[in-house]
Formats: sequence, C-alpha cells, structure tokens
Amino acid sequence: MSRLIDAEFQGLVMYRRDYAERDLLVQILTDQFGPKMFLVRGAKKRGFKLTSAILPFTEATYVGRISPEGLSYLTTTKTTKLWRNISEDLLLQAYAAYILSLAGAAFPEGEPLGRAFTLIQTALNQIDGGIDPQLLTNMVEIKLLDRFGVAPDLSGCAICGRNDLPLDYSEAFGGLLCQNHWARDPHRLHAQPNAVVLVQRLARMMPLQLGATDLNPRTKRELQRVLDHIYQDQVGLVPKSKKFLDGLVNGGNGLLLKRD
Ligand SMILES: [Zn+2]
Repeated sequence: MSRLIDAEFQGLVMYRRDYAERDLLVQILTDQFGPKMFLVRGAKKRGFKLTSAILPFTEATYVGRISPEGLSYLTTTKTTKLWRNISEDLLLQAYAAYILSLAGAAFPEGEPLGRAFTLIQTALNQIDGGIDPQLLTNMVEIKLLDRFGVAPDLSGCAICGRNDLPLDYSEAFGGLLCQNHWARDPHRLHAQPNAVVLVQRLARMMPLQLGATDLNPRTKRELQRVLDHIYQDQVGLVPKSKKFLDGLVNGGNGLLLKRD
C-alpha cells in the first residue's frame, strides 16, 4: 500500500468510467498533482453525496486522499460548478474535452500545473460563458507548446527580427519568417499573414482578455491550419478528442467516432 496524502485541491473533471457495479473511476485534472485517477465508491447509488462534484464538465474544490501512484480517493467537496452551457452542447463539449486531454498530455501524473491550471480553468469558463471556443482552444494550444518541447519564437522574423512585414511560419527556422526571407524556406507554411498575426496576438493574451470577436471564418480556419500543422509535425500529438472535434467542425462525421 502506498502512502496517502490528505489534501485540499482544485480540480477539473476530465472523464469518468464504470469501475464496478456501484463505483466509478473519475480522472480529475488537479492543480497540485496533475491528472489523477480517483476511485469513487458508491458513486452510482441514489443520493450519493458527491454526485455533482464528479459530473463531466465540472470544476470543484475537493478534499481527498492522494496516492503518489495508483488510485486516489475523494472525501468531500467545498465548492462545485458545472459548466452548464458546455454540458448542453456537443461542440462545446468537444472543445472542452480536447483542451483537457491536451493538458493531461502536457503534464504527467503528480506534477503540479502551476499557472497552466488557471489557463485551462479560465479558458473553459470563458467557453462556458459564450466566448469563441476555437480561439480559446487555440490560445491553450499555443501556450502549452513549450511543455511539449516546441517553443517557436513568435516575436518576429527568425532571421532579421522584423515584425512589420507579412510573416509566415517556418518549421525549419522554428518560428516566423518575414517576406524578405520567405525564399529561405520553400516548405514554409504559406499561411495567410493575418492568421500569423493572430497566432502572435493569442500568444500574448490570457483567456480573460478575449472578448467577442468578428473574425473572418477563413482567417480562423487558417489559424487552425497553422496550429494543426505544428501539433501534427512538431509536437507529434493528435489526441482522439481532437479527431472527434475536427469531425464535428468539418461536418458532423465525428458523431460516428467513439470518444474514449
Ligand atoms: Zn526577415
């Protein structure tokens, strides 16, 4: 038996699945211990006291017993908030599930999330509050890049530093190239310059600073193409939740895919 640590922590419910007739396994992204798996005994019984704290798309302050490795346990909760709009909308659910799976991939079990916890928590609350889910997701994607060992310099051209000319993304140079230096990388992304400007802006912003926008759908698609390229080729990570999300965004085929 490993030693259990009594702790109070903040958490975001990542997913849950059946464990035994009456019990559930609930994975929670915690602020202090990274993603942890909790065995919640009696969770499927009527009138179970922690029901609202372990619903999908919920954030809460929990008290529990943390196991350094293996299953942890919940004792009680202090505050619980269900993201109501997310929980009622399949597309918002898909964005939220992808954000949570990215965070789970970026932080191993046991590692504190630090400021990244606030980033994820705030992004999800903003999505629930009606702010553009794609842009918030893109912001999280950009800000988690360094956790995956990909830290593109987005401040200006990788060769001359200029930021006043149209810029493109270059994998080979690990960042941006200005128009004067586009010839140096024939495999640059050939992205729309305004999508690259958007990547730069989102990198500097936090989720609470994002309000209503009236961005051109084409620019948003291009922004997503740039980030998809970075995640596929440089990070090498495309979670199942991302494929599900893409299916929904690109016409509903995702409904046929099974979520894990
Ligand atoms: Zn340049």
